Amino acid sequence: LTITLLAGGVGGAKAAEGLAASVYASTTHIIGNVADDDAFHGLWVSPDIDTLLYSLGDQIDRERGWGRKSESYQVLNELSALGQETWMTLGDLDLATHIYRTELRKQGVRASHITQRLAKRHGVTVPILLPTDDVVQTQVKTESGWLSFQEYFVREQCKPKVLGVEYKGANIARATSEALFQIAKSDVIVIAPSNPIVSIGAILATPGLQEAIEKSTAYVIAISPLIAGKTVKGPADKMLESMGKSTDSKGIYQCYGSLLNAMVIDDADRDELPWLQDQGLDVLVTPTLMKTRDDKCALLTNTVAFAEQQR
Ligand code: GDP
Ligand code: CA
Repeated sequence: LTITLLAGGVGGAKAAEGLAASVYASTTHIIGNVADDDAFHGLWVSPDIDTLLYSLGDQIDRERGWGRKSESYQVLNELSALGQETWMTLGDLDLATHIYRTELRKQGVRASHITQRLAKRHGVTVPILLPTDDVVQTQVKTESGWLSFQEYFVREQCKPKVLGVEYKGANIARATSEALFQIAKSDVIVIAPSNPIVSIGAILATPGLQEAIEKSTAYVIAISPLIAGKTVKGPADKMLESMGKSTDSKGIYQCYGSLLNAMVIDDADRDELPWLQDQGLDVLVTPTLMKTRDDKCALLTNTVAFAEQQR
């Protein structure tokens, strides 16, 4: 069974770990999000891809869900002493990744290949593909103007009201042949419980990618990132709300619409089942909170098994 996971950062990485720990590991590919990328201190930082790499490589700080474990901050503290803005928390080990990535980008190495090399370093065997090798950057419109995604997410801590989102560069980005090929031959496409607007929305904004999913014969199943109307972490609920979408599985459905064959929702949201079924979706109701490795493996195994049964 050929499986593709569309994944953002923290929620995406939990789903990726679930698949990597499951019987489906050897036939799974991941497509990650590059639209949170930005430059800091002259270095190219790709937060969602690094969250996938560090999680699958067991180098992640499990408490925070991002960054390296056993991290130190000597370089950042020195930059701060030099009067640089240091709201983006980049640890010493993490900085090595960004230095390496930046250097290879300068040499003209494709972002996809840099990801492969980093994956090798971290012993990650499930392939991580990029939707595009081009630069796409999410911009967030707020009452005080446009912010880069990291300015909104980290510096402003998701406080400003979101009036709109744009994926800068997406219109001229070219999808990677690897991502298109993988989608075309997938039996099941799992959409991770990631932010539907800034993580999955940015992946789908790559020209040709959404069309490739629509054209493929794959069964598409999305795991809701909301439990009882709230996100487990991050601003997806606030973003849905301020963009006029409902903050439940209905709102997630509104984001993906006709792409979906099925949704996975939490036990706490069982009352949303009839509405989703009325839209023609198959629905799996199951615990969706992933804390342990076993939680992750169980949710992703159940999700794929359900898809296999229904398709
Ligand atoms: P980010 O790029 O780090 O913001 O991460 P993602 O976009 O991949 O995921 C963010 C979403 O993951 C949030 O909306 C969370 O609600 C969701 N999420 C995180 N952990 C879990 C979990 O254990 N279960 C479910 N259902 N959703 C989760
Ligand atoms: Ca992200």
